[in-house]
Amino acid sequence: MRFVSYLYDGRRRAGAVIDGCVVPLADVTELGRQTPLEVLSAPDLRYGERVPLEEVRLRPVVPEPQKIICVGLNYRAHVIETERELPTYPVLFSKFPTSLIGPNDPIVVPPETRQVDYEAELAVVIGAPARRVPKEEARTVIAGYTIANDVSMRDYQYKTHQWLQGKAWDSSTPLGPELVTEDEIGDQVGKLGISLTLNGEVLQSSDTSMMIFDIPTLISTISEFTTLLPGDVILTGTPDGVGSRRTPQVFLTPGDRVSVKIDGIGELAGEIRSEGE
Ligand code: MG
Repeated sequence: MRFVSYLYDGRRRAGAVIDGCVVPLADVTELGRQTPLEVLSAPDLRYGERVPLEEVRLRPVVPEPQKIICVGLNYRAHVIETERELPTYPVLFSKFPTSLIGPNDPIVVPPETRQVDYEAELAVVIGAPARRVPKEEARTVIAGYTIANDVSMRDYQYKTHQWLQGKAWDSSTPLGPELVTEDEIGDQVGKLGISLTLNGEVLQSSDTSMMIFDIPTLISTISEFTTLLPGDVILTGTPDGVGSRRTPQVFLTPGDRVSVKIDGIGELAGEIRSEGE
């Protein structure tokens, strides 16, 4: 199934997307902590309150994850374009819930930065508490998948060897539009096409088989040191073709349109705006 978090008539809801409508979940205001696997696998849907999808405002598909853990340098060709060695342990950093925006919200360029870059990424949403999960059991803790654009302020990212200040800007990172449940994707998750277009031009094109650390390895590695909880989000890294590594460099500017597509998951498309616009 496919689920969204949304605003309708001033109320926060979460619901299933069925035949172009959103059918709300009973007693749930958003996807995440309130929607572990057992809720999503047998959803209590209020068909009488369904509304057309185009009439709702989509929120980040998980609006308030307790943790957002991001993986850097996880596609071989991207590591090569950054002129680094292939990692032997995942490069991990984090964002905050305040970093997230809805899938249709504009990406706002803060006045302090001159280097706003894009990164197409597959995102994993956790569905069950998970600590020290063996790779073979990793799938059992996944609620589903969605799409992220790991928007990165490169001039801030490289101020130090820690990337946080370039990655965790408020309202920078679109997440969504839909949570696609794990059972809809299954083994295909290791071979999904992933691409990004900027103003219609394809700038990233790869597939998830090019990941250095696959999703079971990431879940096993991360859950070794921290407990993953329902609603936690893992951004799994971006393929090659990011703007800062192109010649000439490409950065996002107001008026641009950027779209991330992942096979079987959907499209995350938005517009770049300047602050106050
Ligand atoms: Mg990234």
